[in-house]
Amino acid sequence: MEPWLHAAANDAALMSDFKMVCGFGGRMSGSGQDDAAMAWAMARAGEAASAVQTLTVPYDAWRCVAASLDLLGPAGRPLACRPLLRSASTPEGGLELDVADAGRGRPEDFERLGEGARGRAVLVRHEYPFTGDHVHRRRKYDMAVEAGAAAFLIANNVPGQGVLSGSSGRPRGVAGIPAAYIEHEGGEALAAACAAGNGRVRIVVRGAEIEDACASVGLAEVAGGRDGVIVISAHMDGHDLGVSALDNGTGVAVALAAFRALAARVGPDTPSLRLCFFCAEEWALTGSARYLAALAPAERARIKFDINLDTVAGDASLTALISDFPALETVVEAAAGASGVPVGIWLPLMPNSDHANFARHGIPALRLLAGFGKPESRVNNILSAGDVPAIIEEAELRQAVAVTCAMADAALRMSDAQLDSLASR
Ligand SMILES: [Zn+2]
Repeated sequence: MEPWLHAAANDAALMSDFKMVCGFGGRMSGSGQDDAAMAWAMARAGEAASAVQTLTVPYDAWRCVAASLDLLGPAGRPLACRPLLRSASTPEGGLELDVADAGRGRPEDFERLGEGARGRAVLVRHEYPFTGDHVHRRRKYDMAVEAGAAAFLIANNVPGQGVLSGSSGRPRGVAGIPAAYIEHEGGEALAAACAAGNGRVRIVVRGAEIEDACASVGLAEVAGGRDGVIVISAHMDGHDLGVSALDNGTGVAVALAAFRALAARVGPDTPSLRLCFFCAEEWALTGSARYLAALAPAERARIKFDINLDTVAGDASLTALISDFPALETVVEAAAGASGVPVGIWLPLMPNSDHANFARHGIPALRLLAGFGKPESRVNNILSAGDVPAIIEEAELRQAVAVTCAMADAALRMSDAQLDSLASR
């Protein structure tokens, strides 16, 4: 490993930065914790940057006012639940509904259920989000809506882990159905009741729109002498069951360390380096979507490559999700070689973090991720109360810094023609 890369991986402030980010709490957008963490991070990035700026973008904020779920019938009892962000509301007294068990809630499950979903509370299961054939919660929700379901219940797939937190993706002004996470054990109870022919629940979800809410976007830049921009991005916001250590305290801390190390590698012969921290990522990737949409086309075209860091520790394995940009494979392989850290590659676009919004604008973008294809890894604490700093190994963070630095440095050394070729598909 080159000495500068070795020094970057050994960044003295990496662990204290990581603990600091987690110390702000879960950083749910709307809580103020995300903005407080952003202010701290921008001051931190400002020590290495030639310019820093914090923008705000509008997002469809919402909060839960009341929620409950009761299993009715012979085995009746209350079940723990947590509404998905932006869930539709029930009438004030709630809804009493028969439950239809849709298994994992994959397309074939909804096909099998057919009209059996209509007017019912559909029960599906959460899946470990980082496998090649994973079906995302928001897609399951959309399929339930399309099938005419009256409510959507998604059970945690991990026993003993409690409920999870996540977004329904329902935009403001769009009709939807009440939707909530339930515990693994609650899912088992509902499934047993369904099998016995008496799966019936009362669900109450009451939410309130928060008008005129804004999410922060933090930008720090080291200006190079050439026109292009290499971006390192990470989302600052999270969920509040734990402290969003995996998702995404790891990405924020690694991005700050990489930015510090790379600042000195930017010069008259390189493009610029920009650090982008987004909020409202957990709200259907809204923060980065609005930031990119608001850029003038010429300004957007200056961005040559986005390295998005989201959940980059929690397992020793790292994978680059390269968003259908095959040319990024050589960049990742070169970085793996330079850093001595193996990095797997997954070509198809996985729209599960901010890189997807860059990719949709034709900008070569990847997400660096730990634990891809490893549902038994510590990454399975994501979105749960178990997402706390203690599940992260220091060595995992350090190797992520090395890989990130090596990828960004490879891009900084490329000619304009080489950078442009990264976008070919
Ligand atoms: Zn994330």
